[in-house]
Amino acid sequence: MQHSGEPSFRQSVDLMFNRAVRLMDLPPGLEEKIRVCNSTYTVRFGVRLRGKIETFTGYRSVHSEHMEPVKGGIRYALSVNQDEVEALAALMTYKCALVETPFGGSKGGLCIDPRQWDDHELEQITRRFAYELIKRDLIHPAQNVPAPDMGTGEREMAWIADQYARMNTTDINAKACVTGKPPHAGGIQGRVEATGRGVQFALREFFRHPEDVAKAGLAGGLEGKRAVVQGLGNVGYHAAKFLSEEDGVKITAIIERDGALVDDRGLPVEAVRAHLAATGGLAGFAGAEFVADGAAVLEKPCDILIPAAMEGVIHMGNAARISAPLIIEAANGPVTFGADEILRQKGTVIIPDMYANAGGVTVSYFEWVKNLSHIRFGRMQRRAEEARSRLMVEELERLSADKGLGWTLSPDFKEKFLTGSDELALVRSGLDDTMRTAYQAMREVWHGREDVGDLRVAAYLVSIGRVAQTYRSKGL
Ligand code: GLU
Repeated sequence: MQHSGEPSFRQSVDLMFNRAVRLMDLPPGLEEKIRVCNSTYTVRFGVRLRGKIETFTGYRSVHSEHMEPVKGGIRYALSVNQDEVEALAALMTYKCALVETPFGGSKGGLCIDPRQWDDHELEQITRRFAYELIKRDLIHPAQNVPAPDMGTGEREMAWIADQYARMNTTDINAKACVTGKPPHAGGIQGRVEATGRGVQFALREFFRHPEDVAKAGLAGGLEGKRAVVQGLGNVGYHAAKFLSEEDGVKITAIIERDGALVDDRGLPVEAVRAHLAATGGLAGFAGAEFVADGAAVLEKPCDILIPAAMEGVIHMGNAARISAPLIIEAANGPVTFGADEILRQKGTVIIPDMYANAGGVTVSYFEWVKNLSHIRFGRMQRRAEEARSRLMVEELERLSADKGLGWTLSPDFKEKFLTGSDELALVRSGLDDTMRTAYQAMREVWHGREDVGDLRVAAYLVSIGRVAQTYRSKGL
């Protein structure tokens, strides 16, 4: 979505990059090398469908190969174009550097409305697109590893993995060619929820720092805060679900394609999602007010605004009217460069996309490592951990009985203490640690430098610094 007088998405990302890199002292020419997109491959291919040949256009863009493989999702949408794919690939580079996943940045896209095709047709299209990318090593466990993005999910990733395996029958690491696969096809527990979970962990970490919370003009913890969520897709749904069910956040509005639902007491996220899945929209949901002008609801007073849909939804045309003091960018690029300037002037705190939605690629990294190591996380340790805990509990109980102390361990404590970590628990723990560490790296720059006034610039400084360091150690 591009509004008049605004730069394109890729230009917007570059402008944000420039704003930050100005504050750095990089060797001459390195700035340009880091900013530019290394390559974009465009493919047009035909698939025989419904009695005729349909031609599709797809892209795979590689922004930076300072680390390989390069990483980033594949998007299915009619709005996909080269500019967008390049902007998203650049964001992947910065995102991976910020959360320390050892990848360069890449992104893919196919111009298609996935809802127009049935399962079997989508499989044919996906396999053909994958074939085109695989034969050019643009899908490869050591070189380029896609994942889901808007319009794609586990199903598409399973087709891609199978297509790669068919074309590389002796590659023992074939499963690592793509992440976001279903668990039964080499995926990992917790990947589907990962981006939404990451948004939750990011907010929890933000609210652990009263100083930062005060910068947004807020106080206290997450409990009772009012959040407006735009987009109830995979990311928005999981973020809204976890925040409302586990942190006491009230989801006071949900915005989707056809309009918004509003309820100041807090919306039942599960029920709204079920209604959306059944009807394709929010209209007609009983028990909450429906507002047809969804975009206007972005401006509704709340504590936290969570854009979790598309890029460019907060632009120069509406930025001044956004009333939320805190925005967390669950989507990639939801705030344009121009809007970002307006919001900064207003004092709005923005938790930037490259950090806020990095949960997806973080768990993708765990999946890739799992595939390369050919063993599920926790398989070796889990029961040993449980045995050790049991020993401790039994010893405590024996001591208590021996000495007549009358101690009893609560059943809840015992159950939790005696349960060894399975894959899901380990994935969540790794994700939590990643989100906390990355926030602290950004925060140090935000608070530590006079010339850094916001988290986005801080995020860019951290990630560009890391990319530059990798280049330096390569002798460039
Ligand atoms: N498409 C997601 C993103 O924008 C995930 C990428 C990945 O897991 O590689 O971060």
